Amino acid sequence: MNNNSVPICPITIPFVAVPYFTEGKMVFPSPVTSLFAVLFMWLGLVLILGRGWCGWICFFGWMDQFFASLLKKPIIPLENPPKWAKLFPYAFMLFLILVSAVFLIPIFCAFICPLRIIYDPPGVTTTFEWITALIFVTGGLIFLVIGPLLTKKRLFCSFICPLMPANTLIGVINPFKVKIDTTLCKKCGLCVKSCELFAITKESLAKGRTTIECAKCGKCMDKCPAGAINYKLMFTDQTIRLFFIPLAIIVNLLIASGFIWMVVHYLMTGEIVSFQ
Ligand code: SF4
Ligand code: SF4
Repeated sequence: MNNNSVPICPITIPFVAVPYFTEGKMVFPSPVTSLFAVLFMWLGLVLILGRGWCGWICFFGWMDQFFASLLKKPIIPLENPPKWAKLFPYAFMLFLILVSAVFLIPIFCAFICPLRIIYDPPGVTTTFEWITALIFVTGGLIFLVIGPLLTKKRLFCSFICPLMPANTLIGVINPFKVKIDTTLCKKCGLCVKSCELFAITKESLAKGRTTIECAKCGKCMDKCPAGAINYKLMFTDQTIRLFFIPLAIIVNLLIASGFIWMVVHYLMTGEIVSFQ
């Protein structure tokens, strides 16, 4: 990645922004204006939608969700991941920030990102390059394609994505929440099973709420036979489904059309849009 016009990917924000603000160094081959454009867009959307970013906006999220939705039933049921697995992305994000700040390389993009095989296939001539290529191709297949297909869970978004912890922690202050009316709940557990992000547990269900990892996708609402789950305004019992869903769809369409425009622009001109 030595082209200085690569548009910055939102997933890189934590480990590109921290070295830039602490050491004044851009560790991603993009102009600083790209960092600011994507940083402000991401921050604004996460403040508005919270982790709804992962449910309605992110391209990786769409892929993970697509494959997790293909089969009717999971071939490998995966319901209660161990706590360490759920905490792994938080540690992983910190690790990537530290490595990027110390060595000034975007380690996730260089060695791990599964989509690099499409936009920047590495030259594989040395053994080391073969090993790194193998890591992100198999990692991508396992966490974005085969794993979600077999388990009906979004494995990349739940256990790997280094932007997920930032979305989750900042999203805590966003005004739209998913809540469960415990007086209507039949305790059937269908919502726990249907959540692709492990964001409803038996414990959170008993308290009438999701975990902070909820991406506001609405799958649990569609599955709930009692209609007990809904979008609510923070700190109130006010249902805001009719406001939240159109808002999320509008944002989704804006982002998708921007993405399509960038692809068409690239195909027609051979130039990558980089917000320079
Ligand atoms: S967890 Fe990461 S990859 Fe998944 S939707 Fe959220 S930002 Fe995208
Ligand atoms: S708890 Fe419900 S709304 Fe939240 S991520 Fe899971 S299925 Fe989607």
